[in-house]
Amino acid sequence: MSLTRRLLLRASRSTWLARQLSQRAFFRRAVRRFMPGEDLSAALAAAADLAREGLGSVLTQLGEQVTSRDEAAGVRDHYLRVLEDIRQRQLPAEISVKLTHLGLDLNPKACLQDLLALAARAAADESFLWIDMEESRYVDPTLELFQAVRTAHEGVGLCLQAYLRRTPADLEALLPLAPAIRLVKGAYNEPPDVALPSKPEVDAAYAVLAGRLLERAARGEARAVFGTHDLGLIARLRQRALGLGAAPGAYEVHMLYGIRASAQRALQSEGVPVRVLISYGTHWFPWYMRRLAERPANVWFVVRHLMG
Ligand SMILES: Cc1cc2nc3c(=O)[nH]c(=O)nc-3n(C[C@H](O)[C@H](O)[C@H](O)COP(=O)(O)OP(=O)(O)OC[C@H]3O[C@@H](n4cnc5c(N)ncnc54)[C@H](O)[C@@H]3O)c2cc1C
Repeated sequence: MSLTRRLLLRASRSTWLARQLSQRAFFRRAVRRFMPGEDLSAALAAAADLAREGLGSVLTQLGEQVTSRDEAAGVRDHYLRVLEDIRQRQLPAEISVKLTHLGLDLNPKACLQDLLALAARAAADESFLWIDMEESRYVDPTLELFQAVRTAHEGVGLCLQAYLRRTPADLEALLPLAPAIRLVKGAYNEPPDVALPSKPEVDAAYAVLAGRLLERAARGEARAVFGTHDLGLIARLRQRALGLGAAPGAYEVHMLYGIRASAQRALQSEGVPVRVLISYGTHWFPWYMRRLAERPANVWFVVRHLMG
């Protein structure tokens, strides 16, 4: 992992920096590249625009590691409202939640109850509930809660991170559930004994895991979602899918709002279902620092705003 990436990821956890930078106008302007606005209404409007172009969306309210059960209950209630809005507006939209935003650190049992409530509402509203994957210390409880919710509801999926050394075994353990898996490379600062340290290794691990998922998806035994902007990787996976007899509609690509927008439309026009993950909310500092870390060239984008 490059030094810049490591520094940016470390900075993402600094509350002092968050306080210093979050109020700066230039920083707020730069964030707009990845976020249509802080309010749910801006996210819903963006989802409606995408729907008019045939693209689906996934909505997520920024926030993590809440420190009180009241806050966690507020997050649950917020997402229940989001599902209601999606239904009323008939948007092709799903939701994605972080378990520490739903109070995983405080009370895993209450977090499970909240997840069950969201999964039940998502199913009733013909939407879908995704669970993000956070730092490696949360993987075990996240898998546990996902399995519990998946046993009760089909419409719930989980993010797995290709950079973790444990993920091949985790994926194999989940496959009997015919799961919905969103495979990503991984966005956090992890030590080398936990996560593969170099990008080529992560890319190679992603290709192997994606191939395994594709085999299952081709037989209708998994919902395979590739959460990546790596167009070379996506092209190779599409070839692999052809070899397996999996039609472009048998797997999906999910990308982040504001990244590779033209590729999103091109893939969709070629028959690959595409969803755009739209983030919104005021708690964007750690999330934005992770976006900068993914492509340190983005730092220059911020600097240009600062000077312009
Ligand atoms: C839908 C979705 C959901 C995700 N959910 C999670 C999650 O739950 N947990 C988690 O740990 N991570 C999550 N991530 C983030 C993921 O782990 C990666 O950090 C991120 O996607 C960058 O990796 P990449 O696969 O795009 O490949 P990379 O090899 O990093 O990037 C490929 C190319 O995409 C472009 N690109 C990538 N990132 C950016 C950026 N920030 N700005 C501008 N261009 C960029 C660049 O051109 C780059 O060369 C998610 C990503 C997506 C798309």
